[in-house]
Amino acid sequence: MWPYFPDLLARPVPRYTSYPPATQFTEKVGADAQAKALNAVVSGTPISLYAHIPYCQSICWYCGCNTGAAGRTQRLHAYLEALEAEMAMVAKMLGGRGKLQRIAFGGGSPNAIEPIAFVRLVDRLVTMYAGNNPDISVEIDPRACSLEWAMTLAVAQVSRVSFGVQSFEPEIQAAIGRIQPVEMIETCMASLRARGIKAINFDLMYGLPHQTNESLLGTLDHVARMRPSRIALFGYAHLPHIFPRQKRIDTAALPGIEARFEQAAIGYERLVSEGYVPIGFDHFALPDDSLAIAAAEGKVRRNFQGFTEDQSDVLIGFGASAISQFPDAIIQNEKNPGAYREIVGAHQLAGKRGLIRDTEDQLRAHLIEQLLCTGRADATCLLNDPAALASLRQLEERRLIIRDGNDIVMTEAGRPYARVVAALFDTTLPVMGTGSLAA
Ligand code: SF4
Repeated sequence: MWPYFPDLLARPVPRYTSYPPATQFTEKVGADAQAKALNAVVSGTPISLYAHIPYCQSICWYCGCNTGAAGRTQRLHAYLEALEAEMAMVAKMLGGRGKLQRIAFGGGSPNAIEPIAFVRLVDRLVTMYAGNNPDISVEIDPRACSLEWAMTLAVAQVSRVSFGVQSFEPEIQAAIGRIQPVEMIETCMASLRARGIKAINFDLMYGLPHQTNESLLGTLDHVARMRPSRIALFGYAHLPHIFPRQKRIDTAALPGIEARFEQAAIGYERLVSEGYVPIGFDHFALPDDSLAIAAAEGKVRRNFQGFTEDQSDVLIGFGASAISQFPDAIIQNEKNPGAYREIVGAHQLAGKRGLIRDTEDQLRAHLIEQLLCTGRADATCLLNDPAALASLRQLEERRLIIRDGNDIVMTEAGRPYARVVAALFDTTLPVMGTGSLAA
């Protein structure tokens, strides 16, 4: 079992899907910076594309995504039209310089749109960006995964599907507003596997209302039987002041901080005992999955989609709230789908807020990524900073890290504290150093 340090778990640190983190985004960096970054893409640069569908057939109470009820067909069509227009605008600016590696569809629920509209989007992207057999992944809401969708995904040559599962426990599903029986997921998986889509991810959660160690293990019994290729096991973040839909969740039914920690540990132990390879602090993959293979080769990366084997340094996001990442800039599109449509309708890029990364930021981003993905990073930049050095020593005394020359190496006990260790490299946080990491 991992050692329990509540003071470290209580420390508010970013998830580091980027550095500097999204909290540093400013409206001073928007469409102009986006245009400059796109124009600077050099011929042959590997690029990955992400398309955001901010609609779902029904809204789950725990959800922290930028999404709304699909509702009127006309609104969906107008959004898809804008999405296509944005894709075309960016493709024109790139002028064929990017080398398309991957396309990811997320949301929201990409299967909130019509299957035929999805096929059209894939076709447009592959044509506009001259894709040569790119990896295509799609997030799918199992409650809306029909036979027609399974056939559509196969026809569109989708290679990976992610299911939002969270928990198989009926009481928990009722408490989070997402009812999906085990048989529903089994049928979806069987349907996809029969059509050649073998790479299937599950998103699971701990820290949900009424969740106990036993109910988590019950969910993992089903997971072990179904054997998805990858699993992400996230802790539920209850932030009703930011996501009003979470007000429907009974705060009194949520597990406390120690119970959450135990659930994360139990989940980790069970998945590892089932043969899954742990990746970073919340992902797991079967040994023959491309993420586990990348981990064995020291090639795991971290971007807005979490831990990934995607090696592209340029990620271009389309749609409301989508984020584009370049080596020296990160730009997020306008979040409101209506405002997004208007901007794109006026033939402008939709970048609304973001940040520019100088050389120092890029170095720190690399160190944080290395630490989170491989468990090791060069700590030379911390050694002349007395405050950072004091924090580092405290983590060392707790056996969460060890020193190897100028490198710091995470121990197995340090895995649940990986983001706290990564925060040593983060100069955007207010206080670092002596006392800040003390017991
Ligand atoms: S289906 Fe997914 S994106 Fe849509 S509301 Fe539920 S959790 Fe959020």
